[in-house]
Amino acid sequence: MDRKRSASRIELLAPAGDLKRAQTAVLYGADAVYLGGMKFSLRSRASNFTMEDIREACAFAHAHGSKVHVTVNMIPHDEDFEGLSDYLKELEEIGVDAFITASPAIMKLIRECTSKVEIHCSTQMSVTNAAAANWLKETLDIDRVVLARECSMNNVKSITRDCLIDTEAFIHGGMCVNISGRCTLSNRMTLRDANRGGCAQSCRWTYQLLDGQRCVNERELFTMGSKDLFAADEICDLIEAGVSSLKIEGRMKTEYYVASIVSGYRHLIDEIYENGGRLPEERMAYHRAQIMKGENREVCEGFYPGIAGAGTIIRNTTSDASVNHGFLATVVSFDEARMEAVIETRNPFDTGDEMEILSPGMDCRTFTLTAMKDLRDDSCLTASRRPMAQLLIPVPFAVRAGDIVRKAV
Ligand code: SF4
Repeated sequence: MDRKRSASRIELLAPAGDLKRAQTAVLYGADAVYLGGMKFSLRSRASNFTMEDIREACAFAHAHGSKVHVTVNMIPHDEDFEGLSDYLKELEEIGVDAFITASPAIMKLIRECTSKVEIHCSTQMSVTNAAAANWLKETLDIDRVVLARECSMNNVKSITRDCLIDTEAFIHGGMCVNISGRCTLSNRMTLRDANRGGCAQSCRWTYQLLDGQRCVNERELFTMGSKDLFAADEICDLIEAGVSSLKIEGRMKTEYYVASIVSGYRHLIDEIYENGGRLPEERMAYHRAQIMKGENREVCEGFYPGIAGAGTIIRNTTSDASVNHGFLATVVSFDEARMEAVIETRNPFDTGDEMEILSPGMDCRTFTLTAMKDLRDDSCLTASRRPMAQLLIPVPFAVRAGDIVRKAV
């Protein structure tokens, strides 16, 4: 079957670091989520998915028409195969839709011990040409290739045109400056194997540069990490190229990040389809701004323009991640008769502030905060400065538990 042409719309694929984030991604519009279990996965140090969680994530995703991909993407050594076939069989029985793996041996094992689950070749295999993708299809019967983040847009177009299987391309999130894990900085500096789930992100640490004994960057420490990928302007090209899935990176990211980034791209992709193609600059500016509300790092277009020059590197300590203060609160409950919501606070805000509600499946709705009451002692406030406080606020439209309150500008 020609799977590449079976889907009518491109898939939006979101990361999930735990069950709550998987559910959030699905509710905010992800067509599929990817997650890792406690074993055999990169990011296994950060994974919170027990088998029972994966079962629940599958049930939730399938009930909402979404899919679940499970990463089995470590670069395995001989001892890492112990228990792997039982693990794969159990995941198939649970109902996962695809395995993401970077090892030909694991691909072969998946074909031998499961029958229904798709195999997606991880970006860790750094596929940058159609011949490699076709070889993997013909030899190991894989279903999809996640293209290397180092592909230019021209590479993506030609590979997708010439290969026999689905292609998946990254659109947002962290980049590994050393070609998706072909790096031993973390191994050597922390004894944590980057390719077995332990990357300590040593490329993002700050360094002094020495010319012999002389420090040449005393005023500004150096870091070699990459800026994050932000490919909102490439979505149309990727759709036209016939790419099957658009992937957001970030299994370590927060629930707010997942909700904001997934929601932003969901709205952008849907509007491109409704419009029948490219959007006017004014609409693109709107979507870029919406997506960036969830981002707290510097961004770039990665390798899509053809070269990833010096501008794609963080370079100095003053330009890396900052705290995102746009996330103000989550809605705990809403009283429709009184048009009042109980919210749980995160970042500071004041009465008079313009706020917006991010709600699954809806456009953002804005309002001006006119009053707030602290439920701890019923005091009226003009400024909220305490995180995790429960406040009662008037809202001029209906909201739901779990909705996100964020700054409108
Ligand atoms: S230390 Fe940086 S460059 Fe090396 S594998 Fe980790 S993220 Fe990639």
